[in-house]
Amino acid sequence: MRILVTGGAGFIGSHLVDRLMTDGHYVIAMDNLITGKFENIQAHTSSTRFEFIHHNVSNFIHVAGDIDFVVHLASPASPVDYLELPIQTLKVNSLGTHNTLGLATVKNAKYLLASTSEVYGDPEVHPQPETYWGNVNPIGPRGVYDESKRFAEALTMAYHKMHGLDTRIIRIFNCYGPRLRLDDGRVISNFIRQSLEGEPLTVYGEGNQTRSFQYVSDLVDGIVKTMNSDHHLPINLGNPQEKTVDEIAKLIKQLTGTRSEIVFKELPVDDPRRRLPDITKAKELLGWTPKTELVDGLKQTIAWFETQVPKVGVK
Ligand code: UDP
Repeated sequence: MRILVTGGAGFIGSHLVDRLMTDGHYVIAMDNLITGKFENIQAHTSSTRFEFIHHNVSNFIHVAGDIDFVVHLASPASPVDYLELPIQTLKVNSLGTHNTLGLATVKNAKYLLASTSEVYGDPEVHPQPETYWGNVNPIGPRGVYDESKRFAEALTMAYHKMHGLDTRIIRIFNCYGPRLRLDDGRVISNFIRQSLEGEPLTVYGEGNQTRSFQYVSDLVDGIVKTMNSDHHLPINLGNPQEKTVDEIAKLIKQLTGTRSEIVFKELPVDDPRRRLPDITKAKELLGWTPKTELVDGLKQTIAWFETQVPKVGVK
C-alpha cells in the first residue's frame, strides 16, 4: 500500500513508519517537526519506498498520486507540549483532521484516527471501556487536547456516515519507549532523564495518581491490527497494568541505579487521578494484547536514553 502517516517523524509515528517500511509498504511521512524530529525517520530517506513531506496538516494538504491509507497521528501529545502549543493542538486535531479526512475521501483511501485516553478526561469509571463518555473540563488547560480529540472523533464518525469513508479510531493510552524526547515533559522521559543526569525525580502531587503504560512496539502492533480490521467504532489500545506515579519513580530509580532523590511538586491542574484501559474490545476484535512487561520496556527505554543524555555517568 501507499500509506500517508501524519506526525510520521514523531515518537509513535516514526515507530509506525519503521514497521510499515519493514512490512514492504510505500510510506509518505508528513510532519511539521514542531514536536517530531527528522532524525527519527532519517534512516529511511535513502529508500525509494519512502518520502518525507515537511508540512503542517492544519493547512490544505496536497499529495500527488494514489494513497491507500491515511493514518492521522499528528498532534502534540505531551501535556507540557500541548500547554505550550494550545492553538496548534486545537488546530491539528480539528482542521488537521478535517484536511486528512478530506484527502482520504478524494483519494478513496482508508483512514485511521489516533485519538486518546484523554477523551475520558479525569474518569469516574475504572477501568475505562469505549462506551464511557468521559469527564472532561472543556475550559481547563488540558481541554485543548481532550476536546479537540473528541471533536476529531466526531468528525471522523461524520465522514464515515456521510461519505461512507472506511474509518477507524484508536484511543491510545500512555505510551513510552525509545525516541521519547528528553524534554517532552512526560513522566517516563522526565524520570529517566533526571535519573541519568543526577537530578531529583519530580513526582507531582503525592504520587498516588495512576497511569497504565504500554511499550511503543505493542502499540504499533495494535495500530497495524486496527488498520487491517474493518471496525469503525473507537478501540482502546493500552496496557492494563496500572501503576502509581510513585511506583514508577521508584522503579526507574532502581533500574537506573541513580542516587537521585524523589522530590514532590505541585500537581498540575485537572491531572487525572486514575487511568486504566478496558481492552476487552481490542482482545476480542483484533486478537491484540500488549506483551511487553513494564520492567523490560523500561530497560530498553533507559538504554536508548543513555545514548542521548550527554551527562550520563553523573548519576
Ligand atoms: N508526572 C510527574 N512528574 C513528572 C511528569 C509527570 O509526577 O515529572 C505525573 C503527572 O502529574 C501525571 C502522570 O505523571 O499524573 C503522567 O503524566 P504525563 O505527563 O506523562 O501524561 P498524562 O498521562 O498526564 O497525559
